[in-house]
Amino acid sequence: MDTNEILAQAVKSRSVELAEQAMKERGMVTCGIERITCGEIELSYVNLGDTYDQTICQEQDGYPFIGSWGGWYEATEQEQNEENETITCGYCSHRTPMNQDDWRDVVCESCENHVGG
Ligand SMILES: [Zn+2]
Repeated sequence: MDTNEILAQAVKSRSVELAEQAMKERGMVTCGIERITCGEIELSYVNLGDTYDQTICQEQDGYPFIGSWGGWYEATEQEQNEENETITCGYCSHRTPMNQDDWRDVVCESCENHVGG
């Protein structure tokens, strides 16, 4: 079985913990369950080592899905920025209000640098 097939099986599990077990049983080497938060949302995922590895992820109260935590983080952050009309500062990662027409003119309310550098 290749990795994609194993993930396709493992994603049917009810939780990332069970998914990790299924992956191990099929011979994959995993590095445990990790959690990250983006805004208020927490993601659990089976750590395979790299940010953009396709693995099994699960949001709180959600179903497991196949994806990378890095991809999830970027998409979720962008969604939240759009919802809240904020922009993530390139210096300090603070989410500052998008109060200019051009994002390059936005000054971070936390570190006072231009968010785009
Ligand atoms: Zn900043």
